[in-house]
Amino acid sequence: MARPAGTARPSTPGSSSWSRREVAFAVISVAAYLGAAVWARYVSIPGPVLVWFPPAGVAIGVLYLRPRLFPALVVAEIFSTAVIMDLAQEFGPVALGVNAVVIVGAYHLAGEALRQLHFDPRLRSSDDLVILAFACIVVGSTVAAVAGVLVQTWVGLVDADDLLRSIGLFWVGDVIGCACLTPAVVMVGSAALRGETLPMADDEHGLPRGLLVAEFMVAPVAAVVLMVVGDSPMQFTYLAFVPVVALAVRHGVAAAALSSAALGAVLTAGAHQLIDDPLIRSDVQLLMVVLTLTGIMVGAVVSARRDVLEAKEQISDVVEATPDLVATADRDGTVRYLNPCGRALLGIEPDAPVTAKAFDFLPDDLAVDLMREGMKAAERHGSWMGENRLRRADGRIVPVSQVLVCHRNRSEGTLRFSTVCRDMTDQRALEDQLRQAALYDDVTGLPNRALLEDQLVRLLHVAERPTRTAVMFADVDHLQRVNESFGFATGDRVVQTIAVRLSRLVRGADLLARYGGAQFVLVLPDVSDEFDAILLANRMLDSFSEAVDVDGRKVRVTGSIGITLAENGHDHDTALRRAEIALHRAKEAGGGRVAVFDQDLEARARQRMDLEADLREVLDHERWWLAYQPIVDATTGRVTSAEALLRWTHPERGPVAPYELIRLAEHSGAIVDLGRSIFAHACREAVQWHRDGHGVDITVNVSALQLRDPGFVRDVDEVIAATGIDPATVVVELTETVLAADEHGEIATLAALRSQGIRIAMDDFGTGFSSLSTLRDLPIDIVKLDRSFTTQLTTSADARATVEAAVGLAHALRLTVVAEGVETQAQADTLVALGCHKIQGYLVSHPLGPDDLTAFLGSHGTRTPHDAGR
Ligand code: C2E
Ligand code: MG
Ligand code: MG
Repeated sequence: MARPAGTARPSTPGSSSWSRREVAFAVISVAAYLGAAVWARYVSIPGPVLVWFPPAGVAIGVLYLRPRLFPALVVAEIFSTAVIMDLAQEFGPVALGVNAVVIVGAYHLAGEALRQLHFDPRLRSSDDLVILAFACIVVGSTVAAVAGVLVQTWVGLVDADDLLRSIGLFWVGDVIGCACLTPAVVMVGSAALRGETLPMADDEHGLPRGLLVAEFMVAPVAAVVLMVVGDSPMQFTYLAFVPVVALAVRHGVAAAALSSAALGAVLTAGAHQLIDDPLIRSDVQLLMVVLTLTGIMVGAVVSARRDVLEAKEQISDVVEATPDLVATADRDGTVRYLNPCGRALLGIEPDAPVTAKAFDFLPDDLAVDLMREGMKAAERHGSWMGENRLRRADGRIVPVSQVLVCHRNRSEGTLRFSTVCRDMTDQRALEDQLRQAALYDDVTGLPNRALLEDQLVRLLHVAERPTRTAVMFADVDHLQRVNESFGFATGDRVVQTIAVRLSRLVRGADLLARYGGAQFVLVLPDVSDEFDAILLANRMLDSFSEAVDVDGRKVRVTGSIGITLAENGHDHDTALRRAEIALHRAKEAGGGRVAVFDQDLEARARQRMDLEADLREVLDHERWWLAYQPIVDATTGRVTSAEALLRWTHPERGPVAPYELIRLAEHSGAIVDLGRSIFAHACREAVQWHRDGHGVDITVNVSALQLRDPGFVRDVDEVIAATGIDPATVVVELTETVLAADEHGEIATLAALRSQGIRIAMDDFGTGFSSLSTLRDLPIDIVKLDRSFTTQLTTSADARATVEAAVGLAHALRLTVVAEGVETQAQADTLVALGCHKIQGYLVSHPLGPDDLTAFLGSHGTRTPHDAGR
């Protein structure tokens, strides 16, 4: 029989731990056993009519509490039979021993049954009564009666014919002994062993002790009075049990046990004194047993009920004090109970009656549906857990997490629901904050990369009909320069301002996100073609290039944008990557522009990645070489110089465009070493030409990154010293953009080179943003007109006008003008007519290998070495 954990159980101490209390318990137990035997011998009715055997009650109680007292009780039983009952002669020593072992063994068995069945010695429930009855009546008394009578038959005390009747009498005597004494023994004994005083009443602490003692005295006093006044002896004595039952009802099982035991003692003594007829005397004793048991049963039930009520009271205290809403309601929503926190949560006054139905506290149909679903689930499974919203009296909506429990009233067959709701307002706010932090960028407040990717996935996979989505990747050009020049705070302000401007451009369904650094991604769902995106991208470029005011300082940047179109079902990663590839394309083309992705771009990007992997090897093994393109005097046709151009043939891919190789080397930082080697190589070969008698200058392209390198001037010096080349025959070419920016002291570096006699050429003039007027302020000697002008020269009036103006200005500034990319005689003629000094292009020669160049110089003629530098 299962019972709740934590109820008292007799402990069985190890054999070594005989504390003083244990010893005292053992001595008192043996004494009580012998006392009960004396009582049985002298007070109860000996002989064949009815045997009342109290030692059985003592022994079962004692052996349940302390099984190890078994040998002591065996000895006590031998003494009891031999001396107290005076049967030593009849039994003889052997039977005496056997008799004691089997009888005490039977009681021991009963004690074991109590332990096995988890009997609670405080007798707090009717279950305990059932277990006690089973152990005493079925186990202890039955086994003792059968075994004891068999021994008596053996020694000749009982006739074989009389066997069953003797067993019956023995059994009844034991049962009565147990009924009267075992409850009291286990209750008092377990309290004593735990070192506690026996509580006389469940509510002892709330009662004056004097009153309690007075109440206890009522039953024995009443018994004495009834015995004395009774017509025939003991006629109305059963009435003395009324106060016992009253005591049981008022104070529970301990009071019932104590008072019925006391009354039992008084009554047996009275019956012994007043009644001569043994039969009537035994009737009285039986009556006493019945009434004792009634008292104890009432007491046990009362105590059990009181325990339950107390537990319920504690739970209801908890419910009242809990910081969550707790309520119960009928199935139709009638609220039966609402705890104080629930009132506060719903905005109901503490004492106001709750007239509204539970459903009235739900803000909308969705919440009502959810509640009904929850109730159905709770009906099926007992409980339901979920999230819902409640509406307060003031209209505010409160998000709650809710548990619904369904209770079935067994007698009425009705359903009732109770609920616990936790206010989640703060938690939701915190979650929102966390989500904001996790999904939004804190500088611009725009969605961040994570949210963008999430939304993009959804957009590309959720749309029902086939649509196209434009993904635009935008980046501020050269933000690093702003950070380096003005600090990161300014960089942030620029990004912030651009974010604000960009967000003004987006429509409702568009998504603008900060992807990282100065990168933004704009997603336009449902576009027909890329032109929608291009139109918007051009407006975005304006947002980038409009000056940003940072503390009164105007900061100007440009932006680049890459665009791709993604179809429904496309992978979001691919879409972003393609937009990024297009962005790189826009940047490579000089920035401040828009590029649209095409498959070619992707292939090139992939190639570039492969190349990047090969790059190290290229540089290590010096697989590159230099081609030289002759530059001739426009009037004489003589070769005045040769431009060194980088060449590299990839083992699998074939020749790689130098532009690409240079970009890669710039990305990986290898450009400084590579540039130094190229410069040295070109100078060495030029020295050879000079030795061969050719007066040609050597023109070397230099990357912006090389120029920024602090060791650049020193490297150039070293090469000049090592090769012995005349610096006056060396030209360094730089692109126009590098010169115009001068953010890293490039101009000073160039001035240092010039001071050694090296000349500076501005390459690709016209592609950057320097105006003609800025030419005057730059430390240059040569201007190389970009090939695009040469190409358009004969077709575009604008190109022609620009060339004319540039040439005019160059003349005024005493700069040499070189035209690049001359492919036709017509172009050459026009250029000469406009006043160009020198010509470079396929018309003259493609870039040549060193040997071919030597041959070319031989056939075309150069200046004499002493003309060099002109
Ligand atoms: P660039 O310095 O403007 O060089 C001229 C480019 O125009 C060369 O391309 C040359 O082959 C090409 N070209 C010359 N004449 C004509 C013509 O008549 N028609 C056409 N269509 N093209 C012509 P290349 O060799 O592919 O070099 C491309 C760019 O790579 C160079 O432009 C330069 O910026 C860079 N580069 C090449 N070698 C080096 C180097 O050693 N160092 C650095 N930093 N950059 C280099
Ligand atoms: Mg060049
Ligand atoms: Mg050029």
